[in-house]
Amino acid sequence: MSLATASIRDLRQRLTAGEIHPSDILNDLASAIGARDAEVGAYLSHNLDEARAAADKADLSRPLGGVPVALKDNINALGQPCTCGSRYLEKGYTSPYDATVTARLKAAGAIPFGRLNMDEFAMGSATENSALGKTVNPHAHDRIPGGSSGGSAAAVAAGTAIAALGSDTGGSIRQPASHCGVVGLKPSYGRVSRYGLVAFASSLDQIGPVTRSVEDAALLLQAIAGHDPADSTSLDAAVPDFSAGLDQGVAGLKLGLPKEYFGEGIDPEVRARVEERARALEAAGAEIVEISLPHTEHAVATYYIIAPAEASSNLARFDGVRYGHRSREAEDLLDLYKKSREEGFGAEVKRRILLGTYVLSSGYYDAFYNRAQKVRTLIRRDFSEAFEKVDAILSPVAPSPARRIGENSDDPLKDYLSDIYTIAANLAGICAISVPAGTVENDGVSLPVGLQILAPHLGEATLLRIAKAAEGVALA
Ligand code: GLN
Repeated sequence: MSLATASIRDLRQRLTAGEIHPSDILNDLASAIGARDAEVGAYLSHNLDEARAAADKADLSRPLGGVPVALKDNINALGQPCTCGSRYLEKGYTSPYDATVTARLKAAGAIPFGRLNMDEFAMGSATENSALGKTVNPHAHDRIPGGSSGGSAAAVAAGTAIAALGSDTGGSIRQPASHCGVVGLKPSYGRVSRYGLVAFASSLDQIGPVTRSVEDAALLLQAIAGHDPADSTSLDAAVPDFSAGLDQGVAGLKLGLPKEYFGEGIDPEVRARVEERARALEAAGAEIVEISLPHTEHAVATYYIIAPAEASSNLARFDGVRYGHRSREAEDLLDLYKKSREEGFGAEVKRRILLGTYVLSSGYYDAFYNRAQKVRTLIRRDFSEAFEKVDAILSPVAPSPARRIGENSDDPLKDYLSDIYTIAANLAGICAISVPAGTVENDGVSLPVGLQILAPHLGEATLLRIAKAAEGVALA
């Protein structure tokens, strides 16, 4: 069996037993990429030579010693490209430093290998907004892999990466994980440093693992979590051993099903898969109760004001002077700003910058931005009240399985609306995970869907424990 489809735990056992060498894993990955990535399109680039050199020096005594990990192309790794799926950074930008997560992976002995496709600047839910390539769902090549971390989920699902990191601002790790049938974890706000992640919406962004098992997700989170003085939003909180309690099961835990997450718009089969898992967890000893998150219906509108507002500010740094694209047509400085941005950014990025600038502009600030902040507080309160009654929440990840490529290209709003179940976790700052929950039949194809589990802020240990139970439950 190819090492490219093995689990981190398995690889680590074989590496430390001396049965395999880290370069064997890279060789198998290189063959898998050669065989499948022309079709899947998960990678924007990879650095095999550099990775081989790192493999020769890998310290196998470290927790991830010798394990290659692929990165979404918005996470800086010294000497590598970091395109963010944008023409703007396609040429003329090489990372001058390691993001904290990259440095921590290296310190844990992992080998950052390969750059994965994404929606431009992480704006999207299908990876169709990448300016640099098309990624397909490995389970059905005419379907989207989800997004914005579509390359991360597709590579892990296709067996062309062992594990990957993605970023999640409104669902971008969980939704592609759900569509591709892998595990995707969005840590709590402040759990993982974003230093060196190209910022989209700074009050929402988190980096997290995309893996084939919950166990692997716990191992990767362990390596990247923890306080970092270089990111003022990273928390100085104790990092528990995420693998230690994984097998404790769900007996005695109270899990809530939010009634607002099972209403109008959800595909009945997606609903059925989530409910089956809930029943199985009940049979495994959890108590399942109905809860209410009353402000759910306002989550999409709130997110699509706050995220673009922050993006319009964050993306102001792309001015044609400091990084990446610089227009050759410019006549003066103002013209340089305008033309570099006009030429470098794609349609969705421009749409978000315009929306964000509008909601922040004088006269509209109170009506839109300030109001959205108030609703955000109500959404956060929904969760804190719910977590007084339950230990965690179970829900769908997306209302439908992966749609066809190109289906919503003339109506971005349809994709915005499909973010309904994932964005509230970012608005509230809590942690959430997508674990595979079987498949649904859709127009004659069988497509994976995920179960989302949401837990209180810094509740990753409990979250992972429930996820591990859900991953392995026997269905009635
Ligand atoms: N789909 C959402 C958006 O387009 C979320 C993206 C993300 O989490 N980066 O903004």
